[in-house]
Amino acid sequence: MKKSFTIISLGCPRNLVDSESIVSEFKEKGYAFKDNAIGVDTVIVNTCAFIEDAKNESIETILKVVDAKKAGDVKKIVVAGCLPERYRGKLKKELREIDEFRGVVDFDATFKRNSVPMLTPAHYAYIKISEGCGNRCTYCIIPYLKGPYRSRPIESVAKEAGQLVQRGIKEIVLVGQDTSLYGTDLCGRKKLAELLKELDKVSNGIWLRLLYCHPANLDKDVIKVIRDSKNICRYIDLPIEHASDRILRRMGRKTGKADIASLIQYIRRQIPDVCIRTSAIVGFPGETEKDFQELVSFIKKTRFERLGLFMYSREEGTPAYKLKAQVSEREKQRRFNEIMTLQQSISSRINERFKGRRLKVLVDEAQEGDYIARTEYDAPEVDGTVHVKGRALEPGNFYNVRITDTYEYDLVGEVL
Ligand code: SF4
Repeated sequence: MKKSFTIISLGCPRNLVDSESIVSEFKEKGYAFKDNAIGVDTVIVNTCAFIEDAKNESIETILKVVDAKKAGDVKKIVVAGCLPERYRGKLKKELREIDEFRGVVDFDATFKRNSVPMLTPAHYAYIKISEGCGNRCTYCIIPYLKGPYRSRPIESVAKEAGQLVQRGIKEIVLVGQDTSLYGTDLCGRKKLAELLKELDKVSNGIWLRLLYCHPANLDKDVIKVIRDSKNICRYIDLPIEHASDRILRRMGRKTGKADIASLIQYIRRQIPDVCIRTSAIVGFPGETEKDFQELVSFIKKTRFERLGLFMYSREEGTPAYKLKAQVSEREKQRRFNEIMTLQQSISSRINERFKGRRLKVLVDEAQEGDYIARTEYDAPEVDGTVHVKGRALEPGNFYNVRITDTYEYDLVGEVL
């Protein structure tokens, strides 16, 4: 009888792509894949170790699987990804029940996974167009775990995108650590605009979504390609991380408030109904109340459609770990709450504009008689949703809806 296995994929969509290539590898070895751990031979935990919370979640998950092994429900445990890449020696000593430790997945292996997406719902898929990062933001451990920047060749990305479209995929999400630098390692110049044009040709009638652009590296020609495309979502994911020039310098972000502001103005001029998602960090070492208020007023003025907020996580092995003037957890929490309250009211007012409007949505799932869907302004798993009232809708299909109600982050609509 075939041995069976399952995988628990933690962290971001980039890690999910790595998990898919591990699934491919085990399938090729003749294992049968199961989407839950009941009665399987092997459980693989593909971990994340980007920040403290992610490390804690990884360890808690591993300990649960160890308990299942002790109870005889699991025979073998494999721990992969960023946590063993960072702490292999320590983990080996402390977790003797683990049968195998692996580091991060070899990037080329993600090209070779079979093209059927395996860990996302059948109607959307992630393609990792690059791996590693050379930006070396001072708070970030990624460059030390994932290595230098490598781009996947355009032909290889386009081939996979074509296969996914043929299999009925409705949304392709392009990911990397910094997608805006795509191509620089291949030919010394950025080729993201070229890649998007190429993918646009094979993506008729589906959504193409770009995540993880860096404001210091995002070129205007990329924005123009998005403006002129019918398939690329008018959605720009642009983590600013902060708005005080002093803190941006300490973070090593290679850009300043004025440049970020003019880039955002340019994007909004070129694509008037664009949705800009950003992320920011509060409590970075040395952040004074004045720096913090500079971030608050920038967020108030810019009115981002989507904002993810993090409290600074002090990571050993990063330059910022040694910086003086570390901010207390209590103060980080106070600053976090202040911005989240502000963003809630901004998001609420932005959503009100959609009332009565007609929007195209992609249904993700059925839920208690209604349906959970997203517009082109909502990335999977991180942004808001549209609660759609309708009958016999098919998850994985597009529908036109009229928005009947709005909330801070979500919308309500009825099928037209
Ligand atoms: S851009 Fe900065 S934060 Fe993002 S992966 Fe690279 S070093 Fe880390």
